[in-house]
Amino acid sequence: MTDLTSLSLAEARQGLKAKAFTALELTDAHIFAVEKARALNAFVLETAEEARMMAQAADLRIARGEGGPLAGIPLGIKDLFATKGVRTTACSRILENFVPPYESTVTARLWHDGAVMLGKLNNDEFAMGSSNETSAFGPVVNPWRREGSDAKLVPGGSSGGSAAAVAAHLCLGATGTDTGGSIRQPAAFTGIVGMKPTYGRCSRWGIVAFASSLDQAGPFARTVRDTAILLRSMAGHDAKDTTSVDRPVPDYEAAVGQSIKGMKIGIPKEYRIDGMPAEIERLWRQGGEWLKAAGAELVEVSLPHTKYALPAYYIVAPAEASSNLARYDGVRYGARVPGRDIIEMYENTRARGFGPEVRRRIMIGTYVLSAGYYDAYYLRAQKVRTLIKRDFEECFARGVNAILTPATPSAAFGIGEKGGADPIEMYLNDIFTVTVNMAGLPGLAVPAGKDGQGLPLGLQLIGRPFDEEGLFSLGEVIEQAAGRFTPAQWW
Ligand code: GLN
Repeated sequence: MTDLTSLSLAEARQGLKAKAFTALELTDAHIFAVEKARALNAFVLETAEEARMMAQAADLRIARGEGGPLAGIPLGIKDLFATKGVRTTACSRILENFVPPYESTVTARLWHDGAVMLGKLNNDEFAMGSSNETSAFGPVVNPWRREGSDAKLVPGGSSGGSAAAVAAHLCLGATGTDTGGSIRQPAAFTGIVGMKPTYGRCSRWGIVAFASSLDQAGPFARTVRDTAILLRSMAGHDAKDTTSVDRPVPDYEAAVGQSIKGMKIGIPKEYRIDGMPAEIERLWRQGGEWLKAAGAELVEVSLPHTKYALPAYYIVAPAEASSNLARYDGVRYGARVPGRDIIEMYENTRARGFGPEVRRRIMIGTYVLSAGYYDAYYLRAQKVRTLIKRDFEECFARGVNAILTPATPSAAFGIGEKGGADPIEMYLNDIFTVTVNMAGLPGLAVPAGKDGQGLPLGLQLIGRPFDEEGLFSLGEVIEQAAGRFTPAQWW
């Protein structure tokens, strides 16, 4: 029998259906892989026992011909999703002992469709970061290494554990959340596929909130098809999240392999930023050529407000975060550090419970929302956000179906290498991804090549609202041309 962890999700689904192996065997193979890969620090909680129980239940349902679309498929869950009876921390000390009495809608949908939970995955604290280094559980190690080097690299963030686990074949897919790039950037850094759906496509209910007007859940997998399969199960209307949209969930998988002939692909000139490495530029051009060869038409487009996106994001996101994180006060749930009176208890709890990056965001957010500064910063950032959205709308109104850009300005960097003295150095990682959240659009990251040191690089496809299908069709063309990327196992 082939190693069950080398299968794609679609292949595993086929093997289970054909009874080539059981869900329990598939799950056991992945549990073994997870245990062997502790050096990557991708999982913050392994739930092997629950996984075996879920796999056995899936086997029974498969035997009765009742298996759902994900019956017996082992997945990892970002620790931002509340899982009933299973510790959920957002990788923050302030939630270190939090066991939710409820299940997030997205994960509930996955379990309903038969998926198996292997455990909870590491992420930047409260999803604030681009390298997974702000996690209270310590950094995740990227399964990729530079050629001839054993330096530890970051997997990107904030969904770094999700990306590393999928890339290292510890699970067949994983959930992530994306507020400014947290699915697409780690997908690019680890050579896998990641989709941030349109705002409102997946329910945010039961996901620890960072910036509610930007947050969106989405899947990670090793192929475009697998990503499409997962999104179909995750997406859908939820009465418990008023921003979730009531429209039918298409069969995303059917879009994989569809012709892209005649599609108009915009190449935004403003994404050609100063100092962009030549290999990123080359990859971007190559991606365009592949789409052209498959029948798409490339057109240069302009998104003139792109340069304001990052500064505006770093006002809007912290503002919303400062409000969302006010609930961690030591009274209702999570950690509590006593004090002489209630004020001191709040102060002690929040000072000890939050890490430095989260504290920084709360302070920035509180500042930009305070009287006298609100108009100058927050309101202005909101106006800029409208202009960014309008840029995209004008582009789509002219018949552009999707936009092609690099996913990140570089390949994965070393642990401890960036952002130590200057946080902006880290924030610059999101330069190509934040615009998509600001405009609420869907974005897909697809691996497309390698840099000079053998590290994977990704391209990003940005779509019209609710046209995830178009992105899956286009993404598969890039995948077919570029091939798949697997790190050499060293762990
Ligand atoms: N890196 C960005 C930030 O730190 C985005 C994070 C995210 O998408 N959750 O805010």
